[in-house]
Amino acid sequence: MKKATVVGAGLVGSLWTALLAKRGYRVDVYERRTDSRKAGYAGGRSINLALSHRGWKALELAGLKEAIEKEAIPMTHRVMHGVDGSLVRQPYGKDGQAIYSVSRGGLNESLMTLAEQSGNVHLHFAHKCVDVDLKTGAATFEDGTGQAHEVPPGLLFATDGAYSAIRSAMIKTDRYQYQQEYIDHGYKELHIPAGPDGAFLMEKNALHIWPRGGYMLIALPNPDGSFTLTLFFAWEGPESFASLPTTDDAEAFFARIFPDALAMMPNFREQWETNPSSSLVIMRCDPWQFNGTVALVGDAAHAIVPFYGQGMNAGFEDCTALEDLLQIHGEDWPTVLPEYSRVRKPNGDAIAELALLNFIEMRDLVGKPEFLLQKKIEAWFSEKHPDRWTPLYTQVTFSHTPYAEALANGKRQEAIMREVMALPNIAVRWNSEEVEALLLERTA
Ligand code: FAD
Repeated sequence: MKKATVVGAGLVGSLWTALLAKRGYRVDVYERRTDSRKAGYAGGRSINLALSHRGWKALELAGLKEAIEKEAIPMTHRVMHGVDGSLVRQPYGKDGQAIYSVSRGGLNESLMTLAEQSGNVHLHFAHKCVDVDLKTGAATFEDGTGQAHEVPPGLLFATDGAYSAIRSAMIKTDRYQYQQEYIDHGYKELHIPAGPDGAFLMEKNALHIWPRGGYMLIALPNPDGSFTLTLFFAWEGPESFASLPTTDDAEAFFARIFPDALAMMPNFREQWETNPSSSLVIMRCDPWQFNGTVALVGDAAHAIVPFYGQGMNAGFEDCTALEDLLQIHGEDWPTVLPEYSRVRKPNGDAIAELALLNFIEMRDLVGKPEFLLQKKIEAWFSEKHPDRWTPLYTQVTFSHTPYAEALANGKRQEAIMREVMALPNIAVRWNSEEVEALLLERTA
């Protein structure tokens, strides 16, 4: 029987395991944590996340799209919250286009259960990878009692996340490229409970943003009527975690900067004290495989900052890419894995860059009228000439355009839009023949 080992039963590992099992592989999965389906989910990161096109495609391949759709909440637009309580809405795409808020724990557990249902999958919880032989794929795992378990040579997939043990082993090999970058901001999650009878206290089908220039608060809806909030905030500086040493300071800051959000959090003080503040890291490495036997998939290959809502989607797309290559080359792994690394690496770098750029957009630009006007012009021109223009957000979120291509298109379009936005009286002439003519000329 065909066999494979998967290290890490997070979102990407569980999905990839399900796809391997579908291909008839017997898969042994080793996961450091205990089984969340029995012990409760302890992911430690974002309670919900935004799922979009690329993620849905991989879920469809695995046969899980319909089940997840039932629980997912469509978010068709952003709602920007001003300090004065004003609200501005901006659609994400065309009618019917939405990103979806899903529960991280729920999705992970559904994927694990799906993988197990194949009958070909053995999940070994509380097994931490401590050593790997990259040439052969043999690996050593330590269980909860400190006992070592050896896995014999064979195909091995590392889906063990941003701090991958397998990638740590790769780093030590000759000419291996690796970069770890912590950004200046961290994050803290907060919670707005449901109102009476499970009512949503803010608009349900939206991603809420409180853009404040150098930092921001965002909120995604949960099926029980609550919202999960995330404050993205600098670690140091005049407005930072360090500038709020006490809970009183934090509460006063929220009362001044995010008054409407604070009013919906009756237990803000307790949350502020209990919920951890966590760091955000970007990991870049090359190659994503070793010897045609060991491959990095998901965050293990490309941890990115979360501002485009694409980390998991990109990891799921890795699985789709592997499936596509298997269609072309058959299960010739020594061919497939180097090709996977070659094709996906530029896209990993591109989404890392896009995610950083989107932080500036979300925390700062979405609060500015010029930016909203620019997006309105792009949407208008794209509607009239879809063959000429697809907004960058649409390319990244609602298409399968490779991220690297989307990034290049986005840069080209941004240069054109700078010209358009510099036209005199653009706020009144934004949908004029003259603007259309200029855009047609520049995109000819
Ligand atoms: P992980 O989810 O990290 O899973 C890795 C697994 O490997 C874990 O279960 C871990 O316990 C296990 N493991 C680790 N080391 C070992 C070891 N040595 N031995 C055995 N097992 C091990 N992405 C989106 O697409 N949309 C979003 O809206 C979004 N929001 C985010 C918000 C925040 C605040 C953050 C931090 C991230 C967000 N992401 C989002 C990114 C997303 O969380 C990650 O891209 C995704 O979790 C990657 O999945 P993964 O399976 O590769 O890694």
